[in-house]
Amino acid sequence: MLNANLTYELLGPVIFVAAGCAFLLLYLTDRKQMPALILSGAYFFSLIGFVAVMVVDTDLQPTYQASILISVLVGHFLMIWGVASLFGKQVPQYTVGFVVFLVASVLVYANVTGSVFWLRLAAISGFTVSVDLICCLLVWRARSHRVDTVVAVVFFAQALVTFNRIVRIFFADFDLSTHSAFKSSLLAPSMQTENAIFAIIIGLALFSRYSVTLVMQLKRLAETDPLTGLLNRRAFETKVQALRVASAPLPTGLIICDIDHFKRVNDSHGHEVGDRALKAFAELLEQETPDTAICTRLGGEEFCIVLAGVNDEAIRLQAAHLRGSVERLQIEIRGGSLQLTASFGYCKLEPGDDLRTAMVSADAAVYQAKNDGRNLVREAAAVSAEPGDIVRPDQVSIAV
Ligand code: GH3
Ligand code: MG
Ligand code: MG
Repeated sequence: MLNANLTYELLGPVIFVAAGCAFLLLYLTDRKQMPALILSGAYFFSLIGFVAVMVVDTDLQPTYQASILISVLVGHFLMIWGVASLFGKQVPQYTVGFVVFLVASVLVYANVTGSVFWLRLAAISGFTVSVDLICCLLVWRARSHRVDTVVAVVFFAQALVTFNRIVRIFFADFDLSTHSAFKSSLLAPSMQTENAIFAIIIGLALFSRYSVTLVMQLKRLAETDPLTGLLNRRAFETKVQALRVASAPLPTGLIICDIDHFKRVNDSHGHEVGDRALKAFAELLEQETPDTAICTRLGGEEFCIVLAGVNDEAIRLQAAHLRGSVERLQIEIRGGSLQLTASFGYCKLEPGDDLRTAMVSADAAVYQAKNDGRNLVREAAAVSAEPGDIVRPDQVSIAV
């Protein structure tokens, strides 16, 4: 008995439970992952319908028809909702509402006209086809990774297979007029096997999508400064390396800047205003530098910018432009606005120059700008040290 029915009667529910638990565990591990909770609900609700359609006879026990319908409707709706939120989209309410209305109308008609089972089955299968197509379109429109294409194709494949089932229902040469006739027909095991197979394929595809999302989020977190959203030092060095390779044989430009008297901002207006000022400063750096430039927060109120393929004059102009833009920046505070200034040091980086040595050199130029009165731009000495040489700021000569 157990062996004979293993294909769908046992394996199917196990797959639904496993997929539901997998998404639930994901949610319990990180309560912010709401799509995982919704997808878990989709699997558990669908499980009720999956089991009930084979266990009960809705002709003899019509009340079960309602529970199967509710489980199918809610399970499918949760699938759309889960997929939409996983891909950062809204549920297409009107389309879903229209499909539910259509299916409900067919079901009411089927019941009023003597409750022909095959019509009810075709209506519910039609609902599944529509839900799969909606999910497929949602994913297709929002796709940003190869795995998204796989997810969309999987939904489309289920839509095709389920559509083929509707065709088989309409052209069936066997009895499908009652629920019990359906259960003893060949259509029942094939339908349940198809549903079980797609439950696992869709579950795996969505799980892969989830993994990609989480890995991308972790990567972003690992690469960015949480306050300003700029690259952190480690990611900065990696990206600068790539930029220098791409720019070679042209030199790159390095600018370091430090906000003047920032301690006073915190002391006079509080840490929260200080944080807002740092964010505004970071935004300004990104806005006022070319798209190819790489900006980072070196720490505290010190920032660094690397410019692709530039000469000495272009670097100096960019630093001077930033100095003026910072001066014009207005940060709203209670009762007025806060203004900042910053001191800048810059140097040119030839393809063979060592980045860290250049940064020490540019930092020394910032120090010089501070000494000269702040809100100034100073050029650092040319970088000629070999990679690995240690140069302290006090060893670097400054061209003022
Ligand atoms: P200078 O013109 O010489 O650079 O003076 P300064 O006050 O800017 O420099 P100093 O190094 O004395 O002070 C830097 C201040 O930056 C001290 C610290 O409280 C503040 N700071 C560093 N990181 C943060 C941060 O993440 N948020 C806020 N609000 N303040 C920060
Ligand atoms: Mg400072
Ligand atoms: Mg500083």
